[in-house]
Amino acid sequence: MSTNSTKLARIFKVVHPKKMGEGHGAVVGRLIGTSEVRRFDPFLMLDHFSGRLPGGFPDHPHRGFETVSYLLQGTFLHEDSKGRKGELKPGDVQWMTAGKGIIHAEMPGSETEDSIGLQLWINLPRDKKLIDPFYQEIAAKEIPVVNNKAGVTAKVISGLEFGVEGAVKPTWPVHYVDFQLSPNTSFDKVIPANWNSFIYVLSGEAEVNGTKIKTSDAVFFEKDASPTLARFTTGSSAVQFVWIGGQPIGEPIAQYGPFVMNTEEEIQQAFSDYQNARNGFEESKTWRSGIRKLSHDFDD
Ligand code: FE
Repeated sequence: MSTNSTKLARIFKVVHPKKMGEGHGAVVGRLIGTSEVRRFDPFLMLDHFSGRLPGGFPDHPHRGFETVSYLLQGTFLHEDSKGRKGELKPGDVQWMTAGKGIIHAEMPGSETEDSIGLQLWINLPRDKKLIDPFYQEIAAKEIPVVNNKAGVTAKVISGLEFGVEGAVKPTWPVHYVDFQLSPNTSFDKVIPANWNSFIYVLSGEAEVNGTKIKTSDAVFFEKDASPTLARFTTGSSAVQFVWIGGQPIGEPIAQYGPFVMNTEEEIQQAFSDYQNARNGFEESKTWRSGIRKLSHDFDD
C-alpha cells in the first residue's frame, strides 16, 4: 500500500471538554477556545453543547466567520434577522456563513429532553469576512454516507472522503466527517500537507498513532509540511468520532466575543455598525426573535 510510506502524524495534545456557561443559562463543554487550545487555525471554537429549555442562546450577532451546528440528539431551533427560521433534527447540519453580519437566536427544542450537538466556529480570510451572510442547511438524509471500506462508515459533511464529495461547499477549505469504525478495524486517514486536523470522540474507544482514545477525547495532530497519516485501530469496541481539518488562514485575528476580524479597528467598526444598525446589522434596533421568549426569564 502506498500509504505505508507516509509517516504517522504526531499528536501534540489530547484535551477534554471544559464546562462553561454560555448564552443564557446554557452550559457547554468547550474543546477549542480554552486556555489549553485557544485557537486552531482556521478553527476559533468548538463547543459540545447539551441542554434544554429555558437555557439557550437568545438573540446575538456574529460577524467575520462561520458557525457550524451539527445536531446529535433532540431538536435545535433557530431564527435570524434575515428572515430564516427552522429546526435541526439529529444528524442535520446548519453551516452558517455570518460574513458581514447576522443576528440570530439558537434554542433547544424541549424542556424535558436534552438537545445535544457540536458547534464549530470557522474563521474567514480577510477578503471574505464582509461577504453577504448565507446558510447551507443540510438535512441528515442529504449527507452522503460512504462505507466502501469494511468496518468504516463516513458521513461526509464537507470535503472529499473515499472519492465522495461532502454535502456542504465550504467557504474556506475544511473537511468535516463523522466516522464510525466497527470493532477490529484499522483505517488510515490522510492529513493534507500543512493542514490543521483534529478529532473529537463521540463514543467508544480506539487507538490512533499509538495513543489510546476514548469518549470525550479531542486529539490534535501536529501539522506537517508533507501529508501524514492518522492510523486508527479498534479492538473489541466500536468508535465514533468527528474528523475536522482545515487549511490554516495565517492572518492576524482580533476577536471580541461574536465578532472576529483582523484588526482592533475592525472590531470597533463591528460594534459601531451593530449599535448604529448598519453595514449588515440593519435590523439590530428593530428585530427580536420569537424564540428568545423560550428563555422564560429573558429580559428585554
Ligand atoms: Fe450564534
